[in-house]
Amino acid sequence: MTAGESGSPTIPLPLSSPAAVPTSGDHRRNPAPAHLRFFHGPMDCGKSTLALQVDHNQSRQGRHGLLVTQGDRSAAPQISSRVGLCREALGIDSGTDLRLLVRDRWADGHRVDYLIVDEAQFLSRGQVDQLAEVVDESHVDVYAFGLTTDFRTRLFPGTQRLLEVADDIQRIQVEVLCWCGLPGLLNARVVDGIMVRTGETVVVADTAPPELPGEATGPSPAVRYQVLCRRHYARGELGPTAAGREQLSQP
Ligand SMILES: [Zn+2]
Repeated sequence: MTAGESGSPTIPLPLSSPAAVPTSGDHRRNPAPAHLRFFHGPMDCGKSTLALQVDHNQSRQGRHGLLVTQGDRSAAPQISSRVGLCREALGIDSGTDLRLLVRDRWADGHRVDYLIVDEAQFLSRGQVDQLAEVVDESHVDVYAFGLTTDFRTRLFPGTQRLLEVADDIQRIQVEVLCWCGLPGLLNARVVDGIMVRTGETVVVADTAPPELPGEATGPSPAVRYQVLCRRHYARGELGPTAAGREQLSQP
């Protein structure tokens, strides 16, 4: 294909040049520039579905991925989407060094060409910087998926850092609708049927009225999240459906 292969004398590659030496643990001979890509949106926008789709597309090309998530309450961490797709993932927490995570996989003889990070809003700023280092120094592509804002409409720390340093940022276009039919934009936290605007940044709950008793939120209030348009977020109006649900869930 190239001029060098079509008859002209072969010129030995300068193997000692820095560019020809693969970065430690990188199995690709000619690493293309890797990228840190961030996809974000409100709850239910299909980010986990997109994460699994990206993983599927990459693995079909023979690339090897590592899937990580956090805040997953199941015993076997997974990335699951509301349309029924599901894949096992590695559970991480705020203390996980993502550079070491990749190096450990390499040390165990696994290839890691790309990293899928779900629930990326929960990453610390330092962990996002670790992801950037994995991209730049180890040529591993990183695809991060996360919520844009918390229930107070403020950027999550991980999201903020990703917006600052990612190579490529996409707002997920699958439209989530507020109960009024307008595009949903903001995540409201609902405690015992009432929208709240103060509290801990992270309270993991489901986006449907909880049926599993007592998980993480303790004995008291039932916490759930609901996507609203900006106007109904401002007014704190959860809509007739939500009110109906709450009434149904009363004893
Ligand atoms: Zn609305």
